[in-house]
Amino acid sequence: MAQKQLVKSTSGVRGVIGKGLDPALAAAYGAAFGTLLGRGKVVVGRDTRPSGSMILPAVVSGLVSVGIDVIDIGIVPTPTVEIAIKQLRARGGICVTASHNPAEWNALKFFNDRGEFITPDQYRRLDKIFNSDITTHKPFDKLGKVMVQPGWAEKHVGRTLQIGLINRSAIKRRKFKVVVDAVNGAGSQALPMLLEKLGVKVFRLNCSGDGKFTHGPEPVAKNLGQLRRAVKKHRADLGLACDPDADRLALVDENGKAIGEELTLAIAVAAVLSKKKGPTVINLSTSRVTEDVAHKFGSRVYYSKVGESNVVEMMRKKRGVIGGEGNGGVIYPAFHAGRDALAAAALVLSRLATTKKTLSEEVGTFPKYFNIKIKGQLKKNFNSRLKQFEKQARRHLGKHRVDRRDGLRFDFEQGWLQIRSSNTEPIYRLIVETTSKTLTAKLSRDVMVFFS
Ligand code: MG
Repeated sequence: MAQKQLVKSTSGVRGVIGKGLDPALAAAYGAAFGTLLGRGKVVVGRDTRPSGSMILPAVVSGLVSVGIDVIDIGIVPTPTVEIAIKQLRARGGICVTASHNPAEWNALKFFNDRGEFITPDQYRRLDKIFNSDITTHKPFDKLGKVMVQPGWAEKHVGRTLQIGLINRSAIKRRKFKVVVDAVNGAGSQALPMLLEKLGVKVFRLNCSGDGKFTHGPEPVAKNLGQLRRAVKKHRADLGLACDPDADRLALVDENGKAIGEELTLAIAVAAVLSKKKGPTVINLSTSRVTEDVAHKFGSRVYYSKVGESNVVEMMRKKRGVIGGEGNGGVIYPAFHAGRDALAAAALVLSRLATTKKTLSEEVGTFPKYFNIKIKGQLKKNFNSRLKQFEKQARRHLGKHRVDRRDGLRFDFEQGWLQIRSSNTEPIYRLIVETTSKTLTAKLSRDVMVFFS
């Protein structure tokens, strides 16, 4: 029964502690992942949530049992694990983090030797090994070894500072004041450290790193009340919020307004494309603002299916120079091919320092869209309804562009909508974004009625 609480996908294996995810399962996954890799060393790390101190050692046990050497880099952001894998030439990595999920959850995120999320094909092989019991536990003299290696958050910061197109002197001259809300997660130390090295005055909020989520851990506007108030109180230039494993970044402007995590990516795209030519790659759930900004710089925009590994795969294929996910997940592949809140923060500050604009002024140069994200119960004949829906949309919404790779994304003159069934729950997700608040509201109502 407990198995039912597990959510599996290429972005990892997620579960509620004690109701699906437990040390035995974590050890079994460690052993299966080690079997998939065969030999060599694996980097492991975790976020700050308390169950990590139980799950991580279990993962390590599983890896060691099949002869894998483990480098334990402790509590670090997820992107730090990715960087360490590459730098240490490891065969792969596992980060124990349930990302933006609440405290009762934990999860294993798996990475390959490129320091990227394992591909869908690698995930299928892992799942097969896990389910087939072909894991071979080694005898006592063939077990893997464990090495604890602290200091990787500092290394991550050091490498972020070396990103070539970040204008460090302009950032320093600007004398930014920034409030950081790391929700006491894995970014608690690293994000403020990065900013201070850039010459920013930092006000720390929820940066104790004790794993106590004092607000909903997803960095969406409704969870950023504390940060918004703190930005106003300190008269700061902006507020930065990351999720518990610091791969997503959301921004609050100098007026204390949460500008929405979609705009982090748009600003990062401007930061890169203003210095470097090349394509932009974003997923099909990303706001059109990013496409508009990319077009302004003459960049071609490619859309990928939702999921970090899909974005990264498309980036490689199209030689994308910047991209990511509209949920605040910025990917700058010249640094490393994974979402990274530290890289995102450096790019955002660099952009503001270069344009000499405040955050609200910078955002004011973007086209304005009104966005609604909702979910609804999935009905049995979802796919055939989707086809009928597409026909109707074609009739009513005029000139359009259709993408069927991930549910349906329907772009039309004033905006777009996407409707897709969730991979992990019996629900559909709907995003509607248009240039008019009224139209967004009306369309989302109409679509919901259609699928109810
Ligand atoms: Mg995350």
